[in-house]
Amino acid sequence: MSFKTDIDIAREAKKRPIQEIGAKLGISSDDLLPFGHDKAKVSQEFINSVKDRENGKLILVTAINPTPAGEGKTTTTVGLGDGLNAIGKKAAICIREASLGPNFGMKGGAAGGGYAQIVPMEDMNLHFTGDFHAITSAHNLLSAMIDNHIYWGNELEIDERRVTWRRVLDMNDRALRDTVTSLGGVANGFPRQTGFDITVASEVMAILCLANDLEDLQKRLGDMIVAYRRDRTPIYARDIKADGAMTVLLKDAMQPNLVQTLENNPAFVHGGPFANIAHGCNSVIATNTALKIADYVVTEAGFGADLGAEKFMNIKCRKAGLAPDCVVLVATIRAMKMNGGVAKADLGAENVDAVNEGCANLGRHIGNLKQFGVPVVVAVNHFVTDTDAEVQAVLDYVATQGSEAILCQHWAKGSEGTVELATRVAEIADAGVSQFAPLYKDDLSLFEKIERVATSIYRADEVLADKKIRDQLKAWEDAGYGDLPVCMAKTQYSFSTDPSLRGAPTGHSVPIREVRLSAGAGFVVVICGEIMTMPGLPRKPAAETIGIDEEGLVQGLF
Ligand code: ADP
Ligand code: MG
Repeated sequence: MSFKTDIDIAREAKKRPIQEIGAKLGISSDDLLPFGHDKAKVSQEFINSVKDRENGKLILVTAINPTPAGEGKTTTTVGLGDGLNAIGKKAAICIREASLGPNFGMKGGAAGGGYAQIVPMEDMNLHFTGDFHAITSAHNLLSAMIDNHIYWGNELEIDERRVTWRRVLDMNDRALRDTVTSLGGVANGFPRQTGFDITVASEVMAILCLANDLEDLQKRLGDMIVAYRRDRTPIYARDIKADGAMTVLLKDAMQPNLVQTLENNPAFVHGGPFANIAHGCNSVIATNTALKIADYVVTEAGFGADLGAEKFMNIKCRKAGLAPDCVVLVATIRAMKMNGGVAKADLGAENVDAVNEGCANLGRHIGNLKQFGVPVVVAVNHFVTDTDAEVQAVLDYVATQGSEAILCQHWAKGSEGTVELATRVAEIADAGVSQFAPLYKDDLSLFEKIERVATSIYRADEVLADKKIRDQLKAWEDAGYGDLPVCMAKTQYSFSTDPSLRGAPTGHSVPIREVRLSAGAGFVVVICGEIMTMPGLPRKPAAETIGIDEEGLVQGLF
């Protein structure tokens, strides 16, 4: 069998003008700020005008722990959005924007796959509407203003060794991880060691995605800690007087982007924070706007449910006052087999025993999600190599976990492949059975919050932290940051902090290596293991095979 590639399918899309897509949600063309014919930003005036409407139903798509076999969260988010529209519901999709770094590094886009994609996928995976440029610029303006402040006399008494604000670039470039700036003499300032992170790791990105409006955006930008004095007192972006100009640079980027699926249904693609040192979901402003104008909103959280869904609920929903009405947990037969110990090369052969074995990972995620009080439906994302016996094994297993699993074929068939899932999800959402509550209360101590996530989600026995880390958490509590949620940064491949432990490991502990305060975004980042905030390119980057063909078409992007 041969299959069309994602880019071939995307190119055959019969796109409708973006005004028609906006009209489906009652957005008039005056309220759409078009970028070409197939992309538009939704005006701030429109967003303000729908603020007091009632919310539609919110559906979160999450997944088991990722494996190299691929799970298809975005593909399923798009497939479910199309499926809901196909059964006559007014549904919109909300997903994240793509980062250039991974696009030119490892092959793999961010717009879904097969017949469940968002278009124009090339634009989405390249410069799109310039939001990441705006974020990069705002971030680096602050960097420049900090060094400039030091250069002109350092009135704030910034300790140059304790400037925590780095620079960013939307590229995978390991050469920039650790750098020395201001070399070359007196006129260039004071040399100091610093470095670059990828734009999606910027706190500005996290803030753009959590801010309710421009006023909130500016306040949060001002709250960011950029450096410390010798006496360890913090210096805020507000002290540098950068918050106003940064807000100006970000004002258009704050407006959500509207595009469409292959089936011409509306999709908001807005914001894209890292899923480890940040919360990994699209913007609050896009989700909120979509909820005001659609009856059902399908959205995705990054990585597996232990990270993505946990942060979606404990950070995004808590902060934005959102509550999911139904959660869809994506699983694949291939990933079940890998969790059951099968090597990637052997995934083609039927192996029901391995599927059964691997289901432990799925079962634990179902149990975890139920702790949030939300109903869970498992979507089995069908691959053409899956056998009936393997699929049946998963359906049977999920039934024993007090949940239900539905086979979906959206990758091959589009909405036709998700009619059953869409029907069931709409029923559950409409029934209003969700009793969502975050996992912990604001007033728990920061360390207790970490323990709560580690023991109830990762099912670890204990959290290991030395005195320095505990003292730091205590100091932030004393400084008034104790009510913040925690943002866990650990490997996405396992419930534990060891990426090789698949399935449902027990008896492990969670060592904390470092804690960081994102005072503007409003969370405490807890780093457990190696976390890279500036990725590198692989030996053979995807960029080597990307180019323009004789007809002027982009080739090799996906
Ligand atoms: P995630 O959002 O979980 O990272 P994606 O939805 O982006 O995953 O899918 C990752 C890749 O897997 C995409 O290239 C997509 O085309 C492919 N894929 C997803 N579902 C299927 C499927 N059922 N059959 C074949 N390929 C699939
Ligand atoms: Mg995705």
